[in-house]
Amino acid sequence: MDLSLERFFSDAVRSYNSVSQQVRSATERWASDNLYCPRCGKILTPFPTNTPVYDFYCNHLGLSYKIISDIEIDNFQLKSLKSFPYSNFPKQIIGAEYVKTFTSLVEGRFPSLFLLHYSRKMLEVSDILLIHRLSITPRSIIPRNPLSETARRSGWQGSILSLENVPQIGKIPVIRDAKVVPKRDVMHKWMNVEKVMKGTLEQRSWITDIVSIIDGFDSEFTLEDMYYFSNSLSEKHPNNKHIKDKIRQQLQILRDRGYLKFKGSGKYEKTLENY
Ligand SMILES: [Zn+2]
Repeated sequence: MDLSLERFFSDAVRSYNSVSQQVRSATERWASDNLYCPRCGKILTPFPTNTPVYDFYCNHLGLSYKIISDIEIDNFQLKSLKSFPYSNFPKQIIGAEYVKTFTSLVEGRFPSLFLLHYSRKMLEVSDILLIHRLSITPRSIIPRNPLSETARRSGWQGSILSLENVPQIGKIPVIRDAKVVPKRDVMHKWMNVEKVMKGTLEQRSWITDIVSIIDGFDSEFTLEDMYYFSNSLSEKHPNNKHIKDKIRQQLQILRDRGYLKFKGSGKYEKTLENY
């Protein structure tokens, strides 16, 4: 993977006056040459320009049907972000129109995201974080205030994608500090998300809430540590009247899916790949 954006920017500067269009063109063309499918490893295929929501896809042709099971296609959206301090990704990114975004999540059409962080000074890709679609739940999609009556698109309501509400497991580094993460590590982490986070949106919302709490613990923690969050979980799931039972059930699911181990006497340990 060649991280240089130089030739893509020099082409884009000739074709576009607007800086945002230059960035979009240069990073999309770089991505077309370099981004691979985290499921099968093939280079991704771009959708036609101006396709809403989706930028790239993979149909995994050539992969045995058994491995792909019921998933025939993976869709991806590329979001390019300029350098900012400490090479950190922002906690929130601007999303599309709220109702459409929310509906696509509920209907299982929300894409996985490649967040590309580039350096305009160095003309290279600095970081890429892949966000697995299964780790994005309604809690990550925040409505913005509708545009005022005087605005050109009066009443239009945008959304914000909160990365704070995406658990660590769903954030997969592909490039980190201008170093390429081995493809096999990315693919392994991708399949791990599918194993741990599978289920309906309601089931995934629970798993996401529990795993997000566990993200804040060291490798070992206790049932009491989890119960400490009973009230905040009750607020998030007001219809559930048996929160402690639910917490224990979720921990069992996470054990069965290899995310953690039971150590006995109410102690738990995250497995190595999830720590
Ligand atoms: Zn693929």
